[in-house]
Order: sequence, then structure tokens, then C-alpha cells
Amino acid sequence: MNYKKLYKRLTDPIEKFESLGDCEQTAHGPMIFIDNNAPVLAVGHLDYVDFKEPKRKKQYKNTRIYDCPQLDDRLGVWMILDVLPQAGIKCDILLTDSEEAGQSTAQYFKTTKKYNWMMEFDRQGTSTVMYDYDDNDMRQLLREYDFDVEYGAYTDICKLESLGCKAFNFGVGYHGQHTAKCYANLSETWAVFSKVQSLYHDWSDTHLPHEEYTRPSVSYYNMGGINRGYHYTEASYSKGIKTFKPLAEETNKKSSKVLKPKHQEVIETVYDYEMDEQRSLEEIAQEKYSTAFDWLEDDKKVIVRHVYHDQLFS
Ligand SMILES: [Zn+2]
Repeated sequence: MNYKKLYKRLTDPIEKFESLGDCEQTAHGPMIFIDNNAPVLAVGHLDYVDFKEPKRKKQYKNTRIYDCPQLDDRLGVWMILDVLPQAGIKCDILLTDSEEAGQSTAQYFKTTKKYNWMMEFDRQGTSTVMYDYDDNDMRQLLREYDFDVEYGAYTDICKLESLGCKAFNFGVGYHGQHTAKCYANLSETWAVFSKVQSLYHDWSDTHLPHEEYTRPSVSYYNMGGINRGYHYTEASYSKGIKTFKPLAEETNKKSSKVLKPKHQEVIETVYDYEMDEQRSLEEIAQEKYSTAFDWLEDDKKVIVRHVYHDQLFS
């Protein structure tokens, strides 16, 4: 696979995304909407807590992007802008700003369109969170596709309840978010992608209705963002967070007949996510000088190392 697009999404300033769709400048930064006439809305946030030049290395069955705080959530942005379309997963796209400040510009999104459901890829590891969209039907559905469901506190989709459909925030394989050591295992990214591909295949045509949950005016949940410093996301509290949940009678209500998980078809992989083979120092030495790397003179070793590092994001 080619990582140029990923590198671009990880490093482009927010302004570069504005021309991708209809851009509205709000009090909390831009909100960009790309209308693809699709049944599902995909959401991602462009802001990040810190920026560093991304590094990449290939590991056994994994590619790791590391020392890159902007993986949260530019990795998710890459997923919805570049990966999903290539896989034939058609979505309208909403790109936001100020999510890390608890003021996602998703709050300004107005539409007359009726989406069947929404998704976002803004979570560490591979688990899924539904916030106030959470109920037993949805949990049952996701488990059919082998998603682990957890609890979370906040991301863009929390501001979109008025759209009247369910929403999921899927783990996208990053870890150590909000630190300089933030990294992502793309093996995890692809594992989640495969499940989403299956979910979309079976459910993109089905409306999953949601009733907006009206919260008490003062709650743990509402104390986010502003009172708690510059960010307040599910990501900052990795394990065991207690968040505001729907009322017990809502979560315990019987599953509706309509939402019984459908029979799952096994999907032929329509998107080739086999990771590319990164040439080793040895291969480059052989190719350039027809000799083993260890046998090279120092100046030639330097050249080989340059070639090796240049390929990391090409
Ligand atoms: Zn995030």
C-alpha cells in the first residue's frame, strides 16, 4: 500500500481540507461538509493537541506510525477520506475543528438529509463507543460483528444526536494519544476497517433510529471541555471511565424485532490493504552497489541509509 496519502493527511494544515467540500467558518473554526449523496455520515476532527513529523516503521505483520500526536484524529480522517471510498464504502463526510477543546464544530451542523447512521474513527485501539446512542439493540448488533463495546466521554458525534440516527465511534488503532509518543498500529486499523466494511455492507441501507437524549443540566458529562482544560475526550481516560449513561429502563428495554442482526455475508476484500514491503538496507545495498551493506565504505552506507529513510513515506 501507498502511504503518501496518509502522510499528507497527517501533515496538511486544516486550511488544506477546506476546499474538499462546503466549508463554513464558525466561532470554533471550520466545519467542512462533503456531500456524496450517501446513506451514512462519516465524521472526523482535523484539530490535534500537538504536531510532530510522523515516523514510520514496518514490523512483523504491522506498520507502526509513531511519535505523532496528530494521529488523533488525522488517522481517522485518512480512514474516511481515503480508505473507505477506495473500498466502495460510500459516505457523506463531516470534518470538524476544536474537538480537542470540547467544542467540536459538529455542533453547527444542520442538514435536512436523513442518514441511516453515522460513524467516526476517533478512538484508541480497536474498541467501539456509542455514548448516548448506546442501547441493547446496538450492542447486540455490534457484537455480531465482533466489535468490543466500551464507554466513552466525548467526540464529534456526541453533537449530532439531533440527526435522529445512531452513531458509532470506532477504535482506529492509535495509542498514547495526547502525548508526544502517540503511535498507531495499522494492523489494528485494518482489523477494525474489515469489520466496518462488513457492517456497512449489511446495514448501510437500514435506518437505525435514535431519539435525542436530554441530559440533566448539570452532569458529569456536561462538565467537559471548558472546565477541564484544553481537552476532554474519551481518549484522555483510557480505562474504566464512568460516563453518563442512558437511563436504566432505556438500556434494558427489549430488543426490537427490526434490529436483529442480519445474516452476514463474507465479503471478498475489495480494498487491498496488504502492506507494502519496505526495502531493507541490505536490499538497497545489493541493488545500488551489488554488495552487502556491511561491506560498504562509510560514505556509501550513508547514501544507502538516505535511500532507506526516504522510502518511509513514499
Ligand atoms: Zn480525537
